[in-house]
Formats: sequence, C-alpha cells, structure tokens
Amino acid sequence: MIDAIGRTVCSRLWEKTAMHLLLAAAAAALTTPYDSELLLACSAPLGQQPERANLSIIEDMASDEELGRLRVIVKGTDHFMLIYSDAGSERIARARAACLGEQIAAVARIVGDARQGAEWHSVVFTQDQDYIPPRIEGQAVRWPIHVQPDGELDAANHEMVVGTMPHEQVHDWQGRNGTRLPRWVSEGHAFWVSSKIAPLLDPIVAAHAAADGMARLAAVDEEIDLASWGSVRPRREAILRQVSPEDRARMETDPLFTPPGPFTFTQDDFELDMSNEVANYAAAEEAFRRLEARYGQAAVHAWMEQLTASGGTITHSAVMTSLEEHFGDNATDLLTAR
Ligand SMILES: [Zn+2]
Repeated sequence: MIDAIGRTVCSRLWEKTAMHLLLAAAAAALTTPYDSELLLACSAPLGQQPERANLSIIEDMASDEELGRLRVIVKGTDHFMLIYSDAGSERIARARAACLGEQIAAVARIVGDARQGAEWHSVVFTQDQDYIPPRIEGQAVRWPIHVQPDGELDAANHEMVVGTMPHEQVHDWQGRNGTRLPRWVSEGHAFWVSSKIAPLLDPIVAAHAAADGMARLAAVDEEIDLASWGSVRPRREAILRQVSPEDRARMETDPLFTPPGPFTFTQDDFELDMSNEVANYAAAEEAFRRLEARYGQAAVHAWMEQLTASGGTITHSAVMTSLEEHFGDNATDLLTAR
C-alpha cells in the first residue's frame, strides 16, 4: 500500500533489511532538541486539548456541512489553519489541534516565510471512512484523517497527523504564489523540510519513515534519474529505433544519454515512469541534504524562496539554470544521488 506521500507502508523489505538503519536514524533523531510538551501535544489522550504558548485555538463557525471547526492561529504571524471534525471525531480533533498548529509555525519558521495571516492546508477528522473532502475554489485544501469508531486514530492516521501533514504543509508553502515545481524539487524539498519537524512530533514514527526511505534507496537496482521523474516519457526502445548506430551504442552504455531529436512517437511509445517511485522520493530528499551539506541550510532556503517567488510552471531546465546562478554550480550530480 502506498500512502499519500508515496511511502510504502508495511514494507517487507523494511522487516528484512533495515533494522540497523532504524537504529542509525533513531540515533540521528536523538540529536534533535526535544520539546517534551510538544511530544505530549502530539499524543494527548481523548478529552484533552493541549495548549501551546505561541498558539491560539478558537471555536470557529463552520458555514457549511455538519462539521465542527477549530481555528488554530500562530501568534505573531497570524498564520492559521482550520481543523474540521464530525461529531465522533471532535475529541481527537481537539487533542491534535496544537500538534497541527505547531507544524505550520515550524514550516514557516524553517523556510523563512515572511507572510502575515496566511491560511495553510486544513484537515478533516472524520469517522466516515468514505469521506471525500470537497474541493472548493478559493478555499484551502482539506486533508481527511480517518477516525476509528472509538474516536481514536489507528497507526496509519496517526502517521498522517505527525508525518504526512508537515510534508503537505511544505507543499502548501511551495505553491503559495501558484508555482509548480518539477517533481524532484517539490518532493525533495518537502521531505527535507518536514524531516526537520517530524522527529519533534513523534520520533519513533519519524525514525521508521527515515529508515524506510534509506532502505529503499539502498535497495534500488536501477539508475536514479530525478530529472525525468514524474514526466511522461517515451519508452527508450522508441528512441533507440530512430537513432544512428553511434548514438545507439552510447545510449546503451550511458543510461542518462538521449541524443537530440526530432523523433516521432505513437501512443504506445509512451510510459508513465512509475519505476523506482519510492526510491525517487528518498533520492530527491538526499539531493536536498547534499545541497545543504554543500552550501548550508540558509542558502538552500534562500534559493527555494527565490524559485517559488513567482507563479507558473518551473521547468527542470529552469531549475538547473537557477541552481547555477544561485550556487555557481548546477549540481547535476545530485540528480543521480543514491
Ligand atoms: Zn509530497
């Protein structure tokens, strides 16, 4: 089963090979300064509504549906998010409101978000397992979190709160001006930023997720090519049949080489490249870690701020040009990182 951000849940591979990676990731996570109150806020039992000094949590009038609504506001910046719940989910919504509010505060702080009053993605706690959130033009995206009949979260939905939501809030920031990024940039950045937050919310879940990604990256047996991840591309055979013998020989020895076209293709020549899907997520995050190691965290944030400052689609080649301008290095080696 693939979850909302593409990680494979219940991985056999994990059980077989990754225990040492879990221990390594847990050790790494231990260097993160803990905030024990925040840990408690992300695991509070039903009936509690944890308070945080930097947050206001207020009742909000829900204008539609039969859902209750809390508004969680970050003091100082007035950033906020809405937390919807049906009747059977109200207690868990209250118990996790501070945990969710801390996530938007943390993402904004880490990326250097200078906005005031920004609305972030919403969540809907619901016992309706078939619930599909409405997509309403001009309203924040709503992420469903499924609640058990007893009002609690199962493991997958707990992970949705402490693992997936910080990641999705990073995507929300990336798109604040309507920017569309190449997949490796949006996913790598979202994992890289959220990996700095998730260990503060639930270190065990975060260590498992980190180890799972590392194990999958280590186990991948094909070339990682982030440049073309997520694009629809013609099958390699369709190009091979149209190139010179010299180019064919080079394509066979260099999996990243494609000679310039033009080529003609039929419908059958195209594939949506889903191979290495999970390893690509890990490789994309690794690319950002290497950028950070090379140039420092602040420089990577400044680059992403600039890259997402204007709306529209940013092509892969525009990203490479921007890397070159920003760092004096187009960092192509990052795209095949493993
Ligand atoms: Zn994502």
